[in-house]
Amino acid sequence: MRNKIEADLARATARIFGMGWIFLLSLWMAPVVFAQGPSSLKVEADQGTLARWSEEGTVSCGMDGRTWAALEETCWYPVDLQRKPGWVEIARWKRGQTIETAWLVVKEKEYPLQEIEIDDRYVHLSAEDLAHHYRDQSEIKPIFRRRRGAAQFTLPLAQPLNPPVPEGRYFGVRRVFNGEPKNPHTGSDYAVGAGNPVKTVADGTVALTAENFFGGNSVFVYHGDGLVSMYLHLSEITVEKGQVLAQGDVVGKVGATGRATGPHLHLGLRWKGARIEPNLLFGSPEAVPAVSP
Ligand SMILES: [Zn+2]
Repeated sequence: MRNKIEADLARATARIFGMGWIFLLSLWMAPVVFAQGPSSLKVEADQGTLARWSEEGTVSCGMDGRTWAALEETCWYPVDLQRKPGWVEIARWKRGQTIETAWLVVKEKEYPLQEIEIDDRYVHLSAEDLAHHYRDQSEIKPIFRRRRGAAQFTLPLAQPLNPPVPEGRYFGVRRVFNGEPKNPHTGSDYAVGAGNPVKTVADGTVALTAENFFGGNSVFVYHGDGLVSMYLHLSEITVEKGQVLAQGDVVGKVGATGRATGPHLHLGLRWKGARIEPNLLFGSPEAVPAVSP
């Protein structure tokens, strides 16, 4: 009995002290205290898009157990094309190390279906071509895992072609080659003629140049902060691995190498590993959905 009373007393004391502490804290650090409960802040983003959190004083951002620096007081949260729909907790830190959390609601997006007829070599791969493809993947995948280095870009990015730039199309479409469902299209296709110069969308370093089975002549550029841009099906590559590039520098020429039905530029963007719609990074940053109450 005595033990029970002591325990009750201890609990009550802890409660009072706890409450007093929270009360005092709330007077000068209100956002921190409010962040302790389930957040009422949220933002919605479709698969293959991104969300942002723009608040004065934001210095760093968090999602999926990772943290990274904010870009000009804005946190960007890329959502992979095939990320499972659902609620994801995101965070931002303000100067002075106070944290605030919010919910990113990933919404399923039904991308259109596209049927393509192509050389059967690209649908039913020979053992040799399959080995080529696996070799390509083993070189490319480590680039997508890179997170090092401060961002060498600001948004919006620069277009990869000289004006007039046609609309980048077909991101996310579910593709059926010669009647067989294949992986979704993870970049944007620009209908431009062979030989047009292809330009890097931001400052960066050439991470890889390769002759890939599907991508044909391909250039991968790393821009810091986990952002990779890739330019596929080129007729010619004019840069080398390790080369430092300024935004707008030419990396090659438009072609139809690899799995392509005709000359066009395929531009892909990966940001923190997520495959996202490139057009979103060429538009106004303000058009991207933002965290709000
Ligand atoms: Zn493409």
